[in-house]
Amino acid sequence: MRAETSTLRPNPFSNGGSGETLVEVENLKMHFPITEGVFIQRISGLVKAVDGVSFQIKKGETLGLVGESGCGKTTTGRCILQLEKATAGSIRFDGVDLTALDERSLREMRRNIQVIFQDPYSSLNPRMKVGEIIGEPMYVHGVEPDKKARRARVRDLLTTCGLRPEMDDRYPHEMSGGQRQRVGIARALALNPRFIICDEPVSALDVSIQAQVINLLEDLRDKFDLTYLFIAHDLSVVRHLCHRVAVMYLGKIVELADCDELYDNPQHPYTKALLSAVPVPDPEVERKRPRIIVSGEVPSPINPPSGCVFHPRCPIAVETCRRDIPELREVSPGHWAACPLV
Ligand code: SF4
Repeated sequence: MRAETSTLRPNPFSNGGSGETLVEVENLKMHFPITEGVFIQRISGLVKAVDGVSFQIKKGETLGLVGESGCGKTTTGRCILQLEKATAGSIRFDGVDLTALDERSLREMRRNIQVIFQDPYSSLNPRMKVGEIIGEPMYVHGVEPDKKARRARVRDLLTTCGLRPEMDDRYPHEMSGGQRQRVGIARALALNPRFIICDEPVSALDVSIQAQVINLLEDLRDKFDLTYLFIAHDLSVVRHLCHRVAVMYLGKIVELADCDELYDNPQHPYTKALLSAVPVPDPEVERKRPRIIVSGEVPSPINPPSGCVFHPRCPIAVETCRRDIPELREVSPGHWAACPLV
């Protein structure tokens, strides 16, 4: 056992298949300082929001990043977007270390990396018309300087995202939640990105709309050769879209595998518990299948448990789990789990 999941030799977190790597996150840490004092501030502790996370995403691949709220998945996405300056680790996009770029180069690079936010209600400026919202990034980056051409492209993007072109004249409040999220997707596509971080893009939507938006994201991925990091708080929405899934708990990846493998053969007790909470459509199967309930709440990342951070809630914990930090190990080809008992 060792204290950290560190370097990738050979990369344990790649899917092992062919295809070029587009995104490479290595030993990423994001520790937020907690300060005390009014006049003289001093650091009294650290919130270890992300604590040694590594993964790769191939071109055209969708990696799911799943875990309960507060596990560090959104912070991981924000670090990749350079909205947070990581405490340690590297983030490479197409071989370029984003953490080492100056402001100008980062601005250029940002055209390739876009985000779709969770809440279509608060992520769109209520004072701007839909056409302005989608056209703004093009204007800022000088992608389509001509106003007429920009408007035509905005209307094209609306159609691509399943909306009527004349909706460019509406305000966000005149649209439904699903339509607003489609506007958010059209805005993310405006600069022809190569990589999109989808940060819980369907969790604020009605269940009936969720599948439509997932299907749209799948179509767009195929049509525009996109690569996604798909962040979600439960496993039920990622199966259809993701090629591989990484499960996070308290700032660390505890399991990573191909999507079907993870669903059919979960290894880590936390993944098993998450999966047992996913409803099964067949009521007969649903009634008979065993439930794995993990007790208690996710501990605070300010003072995480010693050893395996999952040990206070783990149904199969043994004495050594309090002491030893489990490392991710390959339990079968391409399937990694951070638990020595599996
Ligand atoms: Fe549970 Fe111990 Fe495995 Fe952690 S290392 S998941 S506490 S059995």
